[in-house]
Amino acid sequence: MPAAVPDGGGAARAVVVGGGVSGLVAALELRRAGLAVTVLEAGLRWGGCIGEHEVGGLTLDSGAESFATRTDAVGALLAELGLADQIVAPHPSGAWVLLPTGPEELPKTGVLGIPANPWNREVRSALGFWGSLRASADALLPVGQPRGQRSVAQLVRVRMGRRVLERLVAPVVGGVHSADPELLDVDMVAPGLRRLMAERGSLAAAVAAQRRAGAGAKAGSAVAGLRGGMNRMVSALLARLEDDGARLLAGHRAERLDRLTAEDGTVRWHVGAALEPAPGEPEGAPPRTADYEAELVVVALGGPAAVELLSDAVPALAGHEPVPGPEVKLVTLVLDCPALDARPRGTGILVAPQVAGVKAKALTHATSKWQWLADEAGPGTHVVRLSYGRAGVAGLPAGEPESDDELFAAGLRDASVLLGVPLLPEQVLGWDVVRWEGALPFAAVGHRERVAAVRRLVAEQPGLAVVGGWASGNGLAAVVPDARAQALALAGSLSGEPPA
Ligand SMILES: Cc1cc2nc3c(=O)[nH]c(=O)nc-3n(C[C@H](O)[C@H](O)[C@H](O)COP(=O)(O)OP(=O)(O)OC[C@H]3O[C@@H](n4cnc5c(N)ncnc54)[C@H](O)[C@@H]3O)c2cc1C
Repeated sequence: MPAAVPDGGGAARAVVVGGGVSGLVAALELRRAGLAVTVLEAGLRWGGCIGEHEVGGLTLDSGAESFATRTDAVGALLAELGLADQIVAPHPSGAWVLLPTGPEELPKTGVLGIPANPWNREVRSALGFWGSLRASADALLPVGQPRGQRSVAQLVRVRMGRRVLERLVAPVVGGVHSADPELLDVDMVAPGLRRLMAERGSLAAAVAAQRRAGAGAKAGSAVAGLRGGMNRMVSALLARLEDDGARLLAGHRAERLDRLTAEDGTVRWHVGAALEPAPGEPEGAPPRTADYEAELVVVALGGPAAVELLSDAVPALAGHEPVPGPEVKLVTLVLDCPALDARPRGTGILVAPQVAGVKAKALTHATSKWQWLADEAGPGTHVVRLSYGRAGVAGLPAGEPESDDELFAAGLRDASVLLGVPLLPEQVLGWDVVRWEGALPFAAVGHRERVAAVRRLVAEQPGLAVVGGWASGNGLAAVVPDARAQALALAGSLSGEPPA
């Protein structure tokens, strides 16, 4: 094994593997605890699923573009980073859903599309009278912990009926998690909902309670964004870490993790990384590697990659690999289209899986959703983002667009249908396709148990932790507080002190 790179003047050392938001937040916490922190990021870009790209002269988020306000975890982090006054609410017009019968406004009072009130005007319009009547049976059904209601689909079907599932929940879940609600674990994608149901007596009451909690966090909307885009959070995290003296190494792919046990029984960790070739490096030059030793290691990767990296050091993890997430393809179009100034579909539209002829599963009308972006684009210029790819949907129509050109063509065609406005290629000022391969953790039923088992096995190792969306639940509102808590506990384990 090559000599390890020496590190930080006497302070205990921590290596964070992965420079997505979970890794950066964990690094911040470890640095704050006084550790010498090194962050290894495989790519040349930081931020993982939060990224930026330039399209049609505008700098846009290429991945995550908002955060849930059901807790103030992300808001508090942004405040620490000096960005509190940059937090913005989306336009209140809300989103729509395309049903086989046509477009409908999506009720604003749901969680994952599950309505808080089956007789709300928009809910009734989407479900029809019989659908709302069936949904209201939820109030009469007993709420004992029924065994068969672990998936989102099972829970909703039993409590509120098939129409709520197909017309409201499937489009929202497809849009947010790129997956079929039959496969998704309700406790992963809507944490606390089943507990609230048991407390409040019905699913609708649980949804209402969860919405009230979220509304307390941010002026009535379930999500918020950042002026300039969520990518600004990554820049601010990096700047803070640099100021705090953390060592940030991009182009360093961790390939090995070994446990080093000294004679006195103390454990240190070795991380072996392969480096990206330096610019101008001659072809065929031997690959460069680097080695790090640390008392603490935080693995902040996607689930399958995390378990793979850990498997030599923790062989008991074999068989606990999480299922890889779906590939999601995002098509961004910048359009010259004054007709879109009128926000024909509010902030965007989700597509029910039963709709024929549209291949996208969701469209975000970004210039309608975010005023800062509309101001930057100027009147008549619009940004729309369509997403393609869904895990576990049986019988997907053949001919899914694959290549960039196919995705562009499908994006323009689908955007016309979804927005109800004819769009021609000559109106396109810029476009881009971004692919996120397996980036969305797949919160299938059983995933929670798998995560718990991985965390239990990892916790048996001194100085080791795993963080990230696959472990905490998808989305920044889950990732940020979990990464903080795990890092804090890890730092505490070193001093023998319980986390604050
Ligand atoms: C398209 C898309 C849109 C989303 N939109 C939203 C949204 O609007 N709101 C929201 O709350 N959430 C959203 N999410 C989810 C949210 O972005 C993620 O939950 C969160 O960013 C995950 O962060 P992470 O650190 O766990 O993982 P990642 O962001 O995946 O970071 C992992 C990092 O590890 C690096 N890495 C991989 N292998 C190695 C290795 N061997 N060595 C070193 N580094 C390695 C990767 O390059 C990457 O940078 C979205 C996700 C996607 C994909």
